[in-house]
Amino acid sequence: MDKTNHVETLAVHAGRAVDPTTRAISPPIELSTTFERGADGSFPSGFSYARTDNPGRRSLEECIATLEGGGRAFCFASGSAAVTATLTLLRPGEHLLAPAECYHGTLSQIRTLFAPHGIEVTLYEARGAAEIEALWRPNTRLVWVESPSNPLLGIADIAELARLARAHGARLAVDSTFATPLAQRPLDLGADLAVHSTTKYFGGHSDVTGGAVIVRDAELAQALAQIQVLGGAVPSPFDCWLIRRSIATLPCRFRAQCENAGRVARYLAGSVAVERVFYPGLPSHPGHALASRQMKYFGAIVSFCVPGGAREALATAARLELFTRATSLGGVESLVEHRASIEGPATRTPQNLLRLSIGLEHADDLVADLAQALASG
Ligand SMILES: *Cc1c(COP(=O)(O)O)cnc(C)c1O
Repeated sequence: MDKTNHVETLAVHAGRAVDPTTRAISPPIELSTTFERGADGSFPSGFSYARTDNPGRRSLEECIATLEGGGRAFCFASGSAAVTATLTLLRPGEHLLAPAECYHGTLSQIRTLFAPHGIEVTLYEARGAAEIEALWRPNTRLVWVESPSNPLLGIADIAELARLARAHGARLAVDSTFATPLAQRPLDLGADLAVHSTTKYFGGHSDVTGGAVIVRDAELAQALAQIQVLGGAVPSPFDCWLIRRSIATLPCRFRAQCENAGRVARYLAGSVAVERVFYPGLPSHPGHALASRQMKYFGAIVSFCVPGGAREALATAARLELFTRATSLGGVESLVEHRASIEGPATRTPQNLLRLSIGLEHADDLVADLAQALASG
């Protein structure tokens, strides 16, 4: 696999081989929790116990590490468990800089699980490095960033934040779920950790939860290996198999979804029934120039505001026929969600905002559905 860097080829082949026992093309699902020792006490297969390591997880981790250009990938039972693992690198008394606007579950984790354990937290509003540097403390050890962000598709300058973190002896973790390795590779931009909810585009079919953390640094890898094995929030062999299987089509799916999203965003931007559109591919988006440099594709999430408030937004969602009203994103089917409802009373998300996860339907059909829903408003 060293001979090619083409992501399509890697997505099919990385970490996969014909099964040596049966010559099966599709890898077997190895359910065993334990593996036989040799007479001398060694582990001839290289595996001892499923939580520590197992064939399916190893294959998936090799594949994801290759796609992200990392040294090691660590897979978890959900994206949230991958976030937990990353934040567990912090010790009591250390300081975390995290964005005020990002996946609400990450913010809830920081507040509910980590702050009570003595992790100091500052939430930053800005995306410019200078403003973030002003919030630096001597004990700042980790900067969290999500780009593009949920749900406003904010774009952070990953390379600039990585330089800043390095200069101050801190690490940069990037939640790159909305981008996938197709659109951006945070480690290439200088980040120390790339984090994914593989529930989204990697899985891609709304039928498996998972998460991954990818690193290059050997010391970080060792710390994460401990957190993964001791914490035990590992994915099941079947979950690993499903995600590995789905990665083979990730490049094709993601590109087609991004193309559809571009069509939908341009349609919405031209509609008089829409107040505002958030999509980094639109020249009007404040992060457009940066996204054009930093990302190969603009992603397949489009948020927009309708005139009015929560009632009007919910009514618009209710009129959509092709878009299913559901949380989550990244699957083959298009979804619509009123984010403020799921984020609860403390939300900063505009009440009149709807977030679309664009799937693999024909773009004309998606645009027609949005047109009818907006026209009857
Ligand atoms: C969904 C999501 C998560 C959490 O992942 P789960 O698999 O739902 O636990 C984290 N970050 C982002 C950006 C997400 O979209």
